[in-house]
Amino acid sequence: MQLRIGNGYDIHRLVPGRPLILGGQVLDHPGGLGLDGHSDADVLVHALMDALLGALSLGDIGRHFPPDDPRWKGANSLELLERVMALVQEQGWRVINVDTVVVAERPRLKPHIDTMRAAIASRMGLEPSQVGVKATTNEGLGPTGREEGIACHAVALLGTP
Ligand code: MG
Repeated sequence: MQLRIGNGYDIHRLVPGRPLILGGQVLDHPGGLGLDGHSDADVLVHALMDALLGALSLGDIGRHFPPDDPRWKGANSLELLERVMALVQEQGWRVINVDTVVVAERPRLKPHIDTMRAAIASRMGLEPSQVGVKATTNEGLGPTGREEGIACHAVALLGTP
């Protein structure tokens, strides 16, 4: 069996007047903030898609879903994830597991983690046990610590069937 590993990272600005969508879930930010972006700005799913694309050296989501393309305005990132999974399968690969870590001061993500994992796994055709979602604060340091944005790191391991 051949293996490939991919790495993904993304960050979006926190702004007033936008929904906060992470892992396909609409969350309440105690400061009334949401993530800015051309699509739904789901930074978790964006980092994950970049990890999957990176594992196959297929570039990044900017190449597959250009932010200046009106087709992706307000796009549901879970639907984009389905497209990326179709690409992975077309290339003859399967996902062994993925893991992610969201860097956010607020809101507390722990109560939502299992719902996010289930939603992501379902769109990817995986079991929730194959999808890691973790959350950490940045201890008040840097742009994520100052709540200027929320970031996410992701890795994906792919194998031949
Ligand atoms: Mg993004």
